[in-house]
Amino acid sequence: MLASGSRGNCAIVASARTRILVDAGISGRETFKRMKALSEDPHSLAAILITHEHCDHIHGLATLAKRLRIPVFMTGATHQAWARALRDERGEKLQLEKYERFESGHRFQVGDIEVKPFTIPHDAADPVGFTFRAEGIKVGFATDLGYLPVSVRDHLRGCDVLVMESNHDLEMLRVGPYPWSVKQRVMSRVGHLSNEALADFFSNDYDNSATFVVLAHLSEQNNHPEIARREAERALSTRGGLFHNRVLLAEQTEALAPIRL
Ligand SMILES: [Zn+2]
Ligand SMILES: [Zn+2]
Repeated sequence: MLASGSRGNCAIVASARTRILVDAGISGRETFKRMKALSEDPHSLAAILITHEHCDHIHGLATLAKRLRIPVFMTGATHQAWARALRDERGEKLQLEKYERFESGHRFQVGDIEVKPFTIPHDAADPVGFTFRAEGIKVGFATDLGYLPVSVRDHLRGCDVLVMESNHDLEMLRVGPYPWSVKQRVMSRVGHLSNEALADFFSNDYDNSATFVVLAHLSEQNNHPEIARREAERALSTRGGLFHNRVLLAEQTEALAPIRL
């Protein structure tokens, strides 16, 4: 997890042979810097995958795509929305040398990693989460979603690593500084997942399969890492899974130490 939160999201998923960048929400320069600090070579990346076109997921995309000249995978609607935003905001014409289109629900292959995108409820053109499979390991990503529909819960079964949004504490959001319209957006069915909603999933629906649970996309205004951790650990312990599960917190300002399986 190179960066996570409303100021930029970026992660690497890798097998022994293939490395994929998931989202490009921090600047190209910062992405390179954080990769190098982890002894990761940016030029070893095989592809960039984009979940949706919000700025905190695509901010560094144009630069990275240009410098690395690797395929960029996104849905057709996300691609259009991104191109439109780029044209409106910067007057730049879209130039993606290697654009690869995928459709939600249809798996595809990047090297030896099988990618399955699935639809998530969020206020973007065509937002997706991902599961990745390689070498008998399954990794699931679900951030930027207003709630956890049954379809998403199904996709997340059997994951060895689960990256889950734990965006806000409901009470902190309610009494916090955001204008009411923004609070409503965050809390809506197409907004962001609260600690409480994630805890509900862990206590009632989660299959206890993950060796690592990563809490991601934490709000800096409306959450506190220790509150998010406590909520998640409490919910996981009701499943007897606390000793098995290791709860990690992805951060905005620095990369998380790599998780190796
Ligand atoms: Zn978003
Ligand atoms: Zn986001």
